[in-house]
Amino acid sequence: MADSRRIPIRKTIALVAHDNKKAEMVEWAIYNKISLAKHDLIATGTAGALMEQELDRPVKKVLSGPLGGDQQIGAMIAEGKIDILIFFWDPMEAQPHDSDVKALLRLGVAWNILLACDRATADFIATSPLMQDEYETILPDYSTYLKRRLK
Ligand code: PGA
Repeated sequence: MADSRRIPIRKTIALVAHDNKKAEMVEWAIYNKISLAKHDLIATGTAGALMEQELDRPVKKVLSGPLGGDQQIGAMIAEGKIDILIFFWDPMEAQPHDSDVKALLRLGVAWNILLACDRATADFIATSPLMQDEYETILPDYSTYLKRRLK
Protein backbone atom coordinates (compact mmCIF):
# COMPACT_ATOMS: atom_id res chain seq x y z
CA MET A 1 0.00 0.00 0.00
CA ALA A 2 1.26 3.50 -0.85
CA ASP A 3 2.48 5.69 1.98
CA SER A 4 0.39 8.70 2.78
CA ARG A 5 0.58 11.77 4.91
CA ARG A 6 -2.34 13.35 6.72
CA ILE A 7 -2.66 17.07 6.11
CA PRO A 8 -4.40 18.40 9.23
CA ILE A 9 -7.29 20.86 9.36
CA ARG A 10 -4.86 23.55 10.52
CA LYS A 11 -2.36 23.62 7.72
CA THR A 12 1.14 25.02 7.47
CA ILE A 13 1.41 27.31 4.47
CA ALA A 14 4.79 28.51 3.21
CA LEU A 15 4.86 31.84 1.39
CA VAL A 16 7.70 32.87 -0.90
CA ALA A 17 7.60 35.79 -3.34
CA HIS A 18 10.33 37.42 -5.38
CA ASP A 19 10.69 41.18 -5.04
CA ASN A 20 8.58 42.07 -8.11
CA LYS A 21 5.89 39.70 -6.88
CA LYS A 22 5.70 40.71 -3.23
CA ALA A 23 2.93 43.29 -3.74
CA GLU A 24 0.86 40.62 -5.53
CA MET A 25 1.46 38.19 -2.67
CA VAL A 26 0.30 40.79 -0.13
CA GLU A 27 -2.85 41.50 -2.21
CA TRP A 28 -3.55 37.78 -2.44
CA ALA A 29 -3.06 37.27 1.29
CA ILE A 30 -5.33 40.20 2.19
CA TYR A 31 -7.99 38.95 -0.23
CA ASN A 32 -7.85 35.51 1.41
CA LYS A 33 -7.26 36.74 4.96
CA ILE A 34 -10.27 34.96 6.48
CA SER A 35 -9.30 31.60 4.99
CA LEU A 36 -5.63 32.05 5.95
CA ALA A 37 -6.51 33.00 9.54
CA LYS A 38 -7.21 29.33 10.31
CA HIS A 39 -3.73 28.19 9.28
CA ASP A 40 -0.09 28.75 10.22
CA LEU A 41 2.04 30.85 7.92
CA ILE A 42 5.78 30.57 7.38
CA ALA A 43 7.70 32.72 4.93
CA THR A 44 11.12 33.76 3.75
CA GLY A 45 12.51 36.69 5.75
CA THR A 46 11.55 39.78 3.79
CA ALA A 47 8.20 38.49 2.55
CA GLY A 48 7.41 37.26 6.08
CA ALA A 49 8.06 40.65 7.67
CA LEU A 50 5.89 42.31 5.02
CA MET A 51 3.06 39.81 5.50
CA GLU A 52 3.16 40.17 9.27
CA GLN A 53 2.81 43.92 8.94
CA GLU A 54 0.10 43.86 6.26
CA LEU A 55 -1.96 41.03 7.72
CA ASP A 56 -1.43 42.08 11.35
CA ARG A 57 -0.83 38.51 12.45
CA PRO A 58 2.23 36.42 13.31
CA VAL A 59 4.15 34.83 10.46
CA LYS A 60 7.04 32.50 11.23
CA LYS A 61 10.11 33.64 9.35
CA VAL A 62 13.13 31.76 8.05
CA LEU A 63 16.15 33.48 6.48
CA SER A 64 15.75 35.70 3.45
CA GLY A 65 15.40 33.52 0.33
CA PRO A 66 18.80 34.23 -1.27
CA LEU A 67 20.52 33.76 2.10
CA GLY A 68 19.21 30.22 2.57
CA GLY A 69 15.50 30.73 3.26
CA ASP A 70 14.40 28.86 0.14
CA GLN A 71 16.54 25.91 1.19
CA GLN A 72 15.19 26.02 4.75
CA ILE A 73 11.64 25.81 3.37
CA GLY A 74 12.73 23.04 1.00
CA ALA A 75 14.14 21.05 3.92
CA MET A 76 10.87 21.47 5.81
CA ILE A 77 8.97 20.14 2.78
CA ALA A 78 11.23 17.05 2.73
CA GLU A 79 10.55 16.59 6.46
CA GLY A 80 6.77 16.75 5.92
CA LYS A 81 6.41 20.02 7.84
CA ILE A 82 4.87 22.10 5.04
CA ASP A 83 1.43 21.35 3.62
CA ILE A 84 1.12 24.10 1.01
CA LEU A 85 3.66 26.22 -0.83
CA ILE A 86 2.56 29.49 -2.38
CA PHE A 87 5.56 30.54 -4.44
CA PHE A 88 5.19 33.64 -6.58
CA TRP A 89 8.47 33.44 -8.49
CA ASP A 90 9.28 36.08 -11.06
CA PRO A 91 9.21 34.78 -14.65
CA MET A 92 10.73 38.05 -15.95
CA GLU A 93 13.89 38.34 -13.89
CA ALA A 94 16.79 36.00 -13.20
CA GLN A 95 17.52 35.64 -9.49
CA PRO A 96 20.95 35.37 -7.86
CA HIS A 97 19.62 32.23 -6.18
CA ASP A 98 18.07 30.60 -9.26
CA SER A 99 19.49 27.25 -8.22
CA ASP A 100 17.62 27.50 -4.89
CA VAL A 101 14.41 28.44 -6.70
CA LYS A 102 14.70 25.35 -8.89
CA ALA A 103 15.48 23.18 -5.87
CA LEU A 104 12.45 24.46 -3.96
CA LEU A 105 10.11 23.81 -6.88
CA ARG A 106 11.62 20.37 -7.32
CA LEU A 107 11.09 19.38 -3.68
CA GLY A 108 7.51 20.63 -3.77
CA VAL A 109 6.78 18.26 -6.64
CA ALA A 110 8.94 15.43 -5.26
CA TRP A 111 6.83 15.38 -2.07
CA ASN A 112 3.46 16.00 -3.73
CA ILE A 113 2.54 19.02 -1.65
CA LEU A 114 0.07 21.65 -2.79
CA LEU A 115 2.00 24.15 -4.86
CA ALA A 116 0.79 27.38 -6.46
CA CYS A 117 3.06 29.61 -8.51
CA ASP A 118 0.42 32.11 -9.61
CA ARG A 119 -2.41 34.00 -8.05
CA ALA A 120 -5.26 32.17 -9.79
CA THR A 121 -4.08 28.76 -8.55
CA ALA A 122 -3.40 30.21 -5.11
CA ASP A 123 -6.99 31.55 -5.03
CA PHE A 124 -8.37 28.11 -5.89
CA ILE A 125 -6.32 26.56 -3.07
CA ALA A 126 -7.32 29.21 -0.52
CA THR A 127 -11.02 28.77 -1.31
CA SER A 128 -11.09 24.98 -1.55
CA PRO A 129 -13.44 23.25 0.93
CA LEU A 130 -10.49 20.97 1.73
CA MET A 131 -8.85 23.94 3.47
CA GLN A 132 -11.22 23.25 6.37
CA ASP A 133 -10.80 19.51 6.38
CA GLU A 134 -8.16 16.86 6.81
CA TYR A 135 -6.71 15.47 3.61
CA GLU A 136 -4.80 12.26 3.06
CA THR A 137 -2.12 12.88 0.49
CA ILE A 138 -0.44 9.96 -1.25
CA LEU A 139 3.33 10.07 -1.04
CA PRO A 140 5.23 9.10 -4.17
CA ASP A 141 6.75 5.64 -3.91
CA TYR A 142 10.51 6.00 -3.75
CA SER A 143 11.14 2.47 -2.42
CA THR A 144 12.69 1.22 -5.66
CA TYR A 145 15.01 4.20 -5.69
CA LEU A 146 15.93 3.69 -2.01
CA LYS A 147 16.60 -0.02 -2.49
CA ARG A 148 18.68 0.39 -5.66
CA ARG A 149 21.95 -1.47 -5.77
CA LEU A 150 24.99 0.65 -6.19
CA LYS A 151 27.35 -2.20 -7.09
P1 PGA B 1 12.66 37.21 0.72
O1 PGA B 1 13.05 35.95 -0.14
O2 PGA B 1 11.25 37.06 1.13
O3 PGA B 1 13.59 37.21 1.89
O4 PGA B 1 12.86 38.41 -0.17
C1 PGA B 1 12.29 35.63 -1.26
C2 PGA B 1 13.04 34.72 -2.18
O5 PGA B 1 13.11 33.51 -1.93
O6 PGA B 1 13.61 35.20 -3.14
